[in-house]
Amino acid sequence: MTVKKRISILGSTGSIGQNVLNVVENFSHQFEIVGLSAGSNIELLMEQIEKFKPKIVSIKEKKMADLIMENFKGVEVGYGEEGLEKVATHPLNDMVVSAIVGIAGLRPTYKAIKAGKNIALANKECLVAGGKIIMNEAKERGVNIIPIDSEHSGVFQCLKKEKKEYVKKIILTASGGPFFKTSIKELQEKKVEEALKHPRWKMGKKTTIDSATLMNKGLELIEAYWLFDVNPSQLDVLIHPQSIVHSLVEFKDGSILAQMSITDMRVPIQYALSYPERLNNSCLFSLNLAEINTLEFYSVDKRKFPSIDFARKALIEGESLPVVLNAVNEVAVQAFLEEKIKFTQIFKIIEYTLDKHKKENIEKIDDIFRIDKWAREQAHKLIKKGL
Ligand code: MG
Repeated sequence: MTVKKRISILGSTGSIGQNVLNVVENFSHQFEIVGLSAGSNIELLMEQIEKFKPKIVSIKEKKMADLIMENFKGVEVGYGEEGLEKVATHPLNDMVVSAIVGIAGLRPTYKAIKAGKNIALANKECLVAGGKIIMNEAKERGVNIIPIDSEHSGVFQCLKKEKKEYVKKIILTASGGPFFKTSIKELQEKKVEEALKHPRWKMGKKTTIDSATLMNKGLELIEAYWLFDVNPSQLDVLIHPQSIVHSLVEFKDGSILAQMSITDMRVPIQYALSYPERLNNSCLFSLNLAEINTLEFYSVDKRKFPSIDFARKALIEGESLPVVLNAVNEVAVQAFLEEKIKFTQIFKIIEYTLDKHKKENIEKIDDIFRIDKWAREQAHKLIKKGL
């Protein structure tokens, strides 16, 4: 009998968390759940506890935690930041899946790394805002950070057997989102329902809007910089509407490796969980290229979608700028979802705040939270003022 890999999930009720549990369920001989944590979706968390029998769980508020305790004797139940930390650092964890959406995922992931746990990473803020601190800590503790995001998983797989000095370029693909063919003029009037109609992937609302603005790809560019230790000039983005090729790596001899799979998050999730092994694909469709027939690639219209340039600029200027970019974007996307601002105002609010920010270095994790807070306040002010 093989020894099961013991896994805790930070953010088990979100879109990634649910997919992770689906993979765990399909490979119950390989994986078992130690801990689960959720925000406020208590109903789904209780269903998950019933099914996966974790040893420890955590939820946002104490009254929810009390309710879980009443229903599940014998399960350790925590709440708030402390509860999250306990799930992240549980002694039985072999691997922690970091799948909380937003900056709230940063501290517990950092704590998990400090406790020497390997990380399957889906949270963007860990690297976008905390790249330096997270990667330094991981290196020091000998912890693996295995990306779950399809693009980074693709690069990770292409680079597995290659020397760093052979890499010329890393190219992330973007589906182009729902507005790939929309004119700049029409873009202004795009409504929330239209932005939420992603042509390829099923994701949470925040990420779906980020795909429509291409900010998703901008943030992924910053993540790739930290994960793969290349120069910002070696990172590029290509629009690929079919979303079959998830990323490409060009080597100095002109050869390009691409990673392809069907458009289903369970593929990169399964790889992250099983790494360095590969498991059978028993529950998913195989990729049928003859059926797909055509793979198209286009360059990004940077005038229409300035997000990639914002990200590149933030990355080059460094340290506090990516924190600002990420925080302002999150506030602006939320305001768009609440119909307080127009689609293209997301770009304006980001650009304005990036210009206004005075760059500083990040030495400790609390610096990130302070800068994040400043950026959010600025964004809220701009939204109120109606920029
Ligand atoms: Mg992605």
